[in-house]
Amino acid sequence: MKKQNIKMETAIIHKGYESAVHHDSLATPLYQTSTFSFANAEEGENRFAGNSEGNIYSRLGNPTVRVLEERMKEIEYGKGALAFGSGMAAVSAILVYLTKAGDHILCSRGIYGCTFGLLEIMNEKYGITHDLVSLITEEEIEQAIRPETACIYVETPINPTMELVNLEAVAAVASRRGIPIVVDNTFSSPYLQNPLLMGADYVLHSATKYLNGHGDVVGGILIGKDEEEMSRLRKTVQKDMGGIMSPFDAWLLIRGLKTLHIRMDRHVANAKKLLAFLQKEPSVKQIYYPFDSAHPQYDIAVKQMREGGGLISFEIEGGKKEAQAFMNALSLIKIAVSLGDAETLVQHPATMTHAAVPKKERDAMGISDSLLRLSVGLEHTDDLIEDLAQAFEKVKLELQEIQ
Ligand SMILES: *Cc1c(COP(=O)(O)O)cnc(C)c1O
Repeated sequence: MKKQNIKMETAIIHKGYESAVHHDSLATPLYQTSTFSFANAEEGENRFAGNSEGNIYSRLGNPTVRVLEERMKEIEYGKGALAFGSGMAAVSAILVYLTKAGDHILCSRGIYGCTFGLLEIMNEKYGITHDLVSLITEEEIEQAIRPETACIYVETPINPTMELVNLEAVAAVASRRGIPIVVDNTFSSPYLQNPLLMGADYVLHSATKYLNGHGDVVGGILIGKDEEEMSRLRKTVQKDMGGIMSPFDAWLLIRGLKTLHIRMDRHVANAKKLLAFLQKEPSVKQIYYPFDSAHPQYDIAVKQMREGGGLISFEIEGGKKEAQAFMNALSLIKIAVSLGDAETLVQHPATMTHAAVPKKERDAMGISDSLLRLSVGLEHTDDLIEDLAQAFEKVKLELQEIQ
């Protein structure tokens, strides 16, 4: 392939793979091996010393996994990428890499439930503190930074409230202070948002979600803008903590990733149709979708995202009882956590993804008992709308009977 900047849609399919060095195989082969044999003792010595290219042991690198890493590096506009066994393995690797005992991590106002759990562990064991702060204006970001702030950890849009972080403002403050920025880009995928182009230093994904898109892999990816840092990460926390991705999961991800752009276009189109339906539904009190012009950070959304994504959260009239009754009334839409799959999924953050977050923190994050999150799938929207409509109707009838 000629060395030129190819478009993301093309990179998703071709980057990082040369069929000529793999017996002309069109599909990336699966190197399902734990270790690699050296031609002789000296070759082994040279590989360990870093004087000779080549594989050693799959925790240190595997050719199938390497193809995925190269491809992800390209589509997030980074200089290095590492694949992990889960999104949380990627989150923990970068946080361990960037912090030491006594440091402080400045976070967006909401973060993934298990990331919150990890921060609690780091606090209890190593005295690493964190703050969950709205990151919209430069002033509020400046004020939240402490002398011991080691990194700014951001989710945008925030799970599950769809609040945004102003990446431009975060980057302005962080570059003045020399603090690295990590962005969890899972909700947007590289197709809709590229934080490294907006001043972030690291971007990570739960590859379990849109990158794979088929609900059959748990994985994570970390991409960085500095080649040396990424190489150091590979040789230290990734190698020594060991949360690597298996070759088979990488192989599935390479396959799933090839349709990312097509899937995302349909997720977005379907989400917009469901949004229009929900906006007219009287039992829906509040809707959260970044590209809804009523969204409080709509201006930021259109500036930093190409589209609003495939997730919609909404508050149903009532509380936990009504939210659960609504979920139970759905038939086509599946009750499940995770997101980004072909199937439309619904979940109740207060009792599911964010159940481990104490109520006080949940309230601060804006996660009420009547909040539901929809991961809009790839089905025909007529069928999805019919399912939603009958569920709203059923909940209304049940409530009338009680009264
Ligand atoms: C799912 C998810 C994670 C964690 O990823 P796993 O692959 O489940 O470990 C982190 N951040 C966000 C936003 C997620 O949705």
